[in-house]
Amino acid sequence: MSARGSEVSVFVRTRPTASFAQELIEYLPDGQTVNVRQWKESRKGVVNNQLNSWSFRLDGVLHDVSQEDVYARVGRGVVLRVLQGYNGTVMCFGQTGAGKTYTMTGATENYSQRGIIPRALQEVFREVEQRSDHTFTVHLSFLEIYNETLVDLLSSVRGCPGPGPGGMAVVEEPGGSVVVKGLSLHLVHSEVEALNLLFEGEMNRIIGAHSLNRNSSRSHCILTVHIESHSRTLSDAKYVTSTSKLNLVDLAGSERLGKTKSEGQVLKEAMYINKSLSFLEQAILALADRKRDHVPFRQTKLTHALKDSLGGNCNTVLVANIYGEAAQIEETLSTLRFASRMKRVRTDPALNEHINPVLQVLKLQKEIQLLKQQLSIHDTLANRTGMSYETLSETQVAEIQSQVQRYLEGSLEEINIVNIKQIQEVFAQFKVAIQQQEQRVRSQLCETYSLVEKTQSSSGTPVAKLQAPKSMVGEVEGCGFGVGVAAPSERHVRPVSPDRTRTRKTKELVSHGKKEATGAGRPAEDVSGPPSQREPEVYELETQDPPVLLPGPREPPRPDSPPSKTEAFEDFKAERGSEINRILKENKAVLLERRARLRELTDAINTAKTEIDHTSSALQQWRERRQSQGQFVSAQGELVLEEEELALVMRLQELKSRYRLLYEEQRSTKAEVSYCHHLVDQCRARLLTEFESWYNESFLLPEEVQAMLRTGGTIRPGLIPLDKALALEEDEQVRCERVRSERLADSPSAVSFYSAHMRSLQRQRSVGRATPQTASQKRSPRDSGRTRLPAILTIM
Ligand code: ADP
Ligand code: MG
Repeated sequence: MSARGSEVSVFVRTRPTASFAQELIEYLPDGQTVNVRQWKESRKGVVNNQLNSWSFRLDGVLHDVSQEDVYARVGRGVVLRVLQGYNGTVMCFGQTGAGKTYTMTGATENYSQRGIIPRALQEVFREVEQRSDHTFTVHLSFLEIYNETLVDLLSSVRGCPGPGPGGMAVVEEPGGSVVVKGLSLHLVHSEVEALNLLFEGEMNRIIGAHSLNRNSSRSHCILTVHIESHSRTLSDAKYVTSTSKLNLVDLAGSERLGKTKSEGQVLKEAMYINKSLSFLEQAILALADRKRDHVPFRQTKLTHALKDSLGGNCNTVLVANIYGEAAQIEETLSTLRFASRMKRVRTDPALNEHINPVLQVLKLQKEIQLLKQQLSIHDTLANRTGMSYETLSETQVAEIQSQVQRYLEGSLEEINIVNIKQIQEVFAQFKVAIQQQEQRVRSQLCETYSLVEKTQSSSGTPVAKLQAPKSMVGEVEGCGFGVGVAAPSERHVRPVSPDRTRTRKTKELVSHGKKEATGAGRPAEDVSGPPSQREPEVYELETQDPPVLLPGPREPPRPDSPPSKTEAFEDFKAERGSEINRILKENKAVLLERRARLRELTDAINTAKTEIDHTSSALQQWRERRQSQGQFVSAQGELVLEEEELALVMRLQELKSRYRLLYEEQRSTKAEVSYCHHLVDQCRARLLTEFESWYNESFLLPEEVQAMLRTGGTIRPGLIPLDKALALEEDEQVRCERVRSERLADSPSAVSFYSAHMRSLQRQRSVGRATPQTASQKRSPRDSGRTRLPAILTIM
């Protein structure tokens, strides 16, 4: 038996007999093959010369073999693996009287004829004594399953707490292991204590057989040895959990209902045994079928209790006990068929190993200490002095901070690398410096714009309305692009275009530049009407969301006064923003299509669920009918279902697999919908951002600013919002502008220069406006001599 990916080991053992049916049962010299022959129609007493024959290849034949040899071949390997932390099961299966109890328990009155259980207990305690590097804790439990009732065979032991009010039940634990709730666990320190418990349990089994009229061969018995081991050495932080258990199972007799001709109590017992053994077979068939993801363990107490002991994460050995006589050949065949099916079950035993966190931490601390020592030896050998691997002190951090500051200012040429910790701190300080600078730029911007606001306020524009553009942006987003713009709401259609207001106002400001600068005039009021009608959005657009300047192909000519944002947005989507708008539309279409699919899937899932419910309840009715009226069992002992019930079973399976498929698709479609949502939102945000930039650039910014940006000239830092520039990082040109403006932020002399330059441009423009414009000049914002200056420029 190997540890990984092995099959269940299966042995056949014959009960010694004087009349061994040599003509029917043949053991081949390979020690693994059993050939069985059976007269055709022998059941009906028809005598003829025809024989059916079968060949079974198993792991070993135990014929005329001593108890000692049986233990050596069947039990020892499993027991030793349990001590290493793997679960193990030894199980006997076969007809009543074929020798299951003899194999498991043996003859209790004769030491040399003791069976696998007492030998296993002896081996466990011998090993526990020998393995001084581990401490072991051993517990025993002894469970009997009789007519689907769980019986604690050790409940009579002194001090046993009893099953509690809820009785006993098989419970699955997280991780797949199974425990019998209410079953007493007994701590044992020696082989003697363990054997006492075994005999106590055996005695209780016999007493039950007499006083409660139970036939011990008609119950299943599971003796479980629970082993927990801990490492005694600190370096080994692993320990094996109590989930390592050895199950020693003596199954009830497997003879068939038809053959025993039972009635009354015996019939009832036989039915329960039939049921549990046929479910055991079903579970085994399901385990053997690698394609099946569900194994019906819960159908009976036996299969449920053995869930973690049949195949799977367990070393499992089965002994098929048979009679050697011709009279029992039919049951012998049935037992061997079961055995060969069991052999197809594959096991994948895994070590039940856990890490003790406390020991693990201690181990790692020790390892760190050792590594530090090695490092310091290495440093000494490499002549590196002053190396430290400890966490930096506050003074050291302050020193690095000062170095980084000086490096950024230029007074320090380079920062010497000392060690990893110091490098990490240098990077951290760079990050801090960048964040501080960003903060500085932001507050400079705020300062600048609050100045603008004050100026506007003093010139008659109500500051309270400065939030207006945000609501407009919100509406556009809320309606979805296209909708909000194509059908503008009241708030979008304004009697006086905000941009127009802004333009006229700027015109006034420019033409009366001097007056404005001294604060003596109120230039905009007569143009833009009473404050309540005026639209302050343009100021907000400039102050809250200053334009990102995108030098690009020449834009369509600027009209005299800029179009409303609603119109402009339509133009933008058709031209400059057409690509991103197309992507947005495509994404929206995909999103709609995925949403529709999601709805379809949800409907289909609901329909499948309803059908599953209907089919399950119909099936349940069948089962109840079968239980009350008895069930058909084939000659091979397999449950025979009526055609209609079988059809329901198939239908249910089909529905369940359909439900699973739909559910999977629904889950992935949900993820796709959410992803598409994200894409659509991103596209919207991008379209809006680019539109704002384009709008400001095309209608609001002085052409000279554009030109200057294109030629690498200087510009006020406030014109480019840092966060917007960061958001459009992939746009290399924008990024360049941001870098330029940041440099400006650190260079006040450039700002003064630019201010002076702008003032002279203003003057030039006010002079230029006297010249009449051609039609094309009117359309071209860039070529226009007269420009609507952004609010920021009016205060210079
Ligand atoms: P089961 O538990 O399968 O019903 P038992 O183990 O009780 O059968 O066996 C029935 C009888 O046969 C017992 O008296 C037992 O001692 C005897 N027996 C079974 N197998 C052997 C064997 N291999 N060697 C000696 N006696 C055996
Ligand atoms: Mg028995």
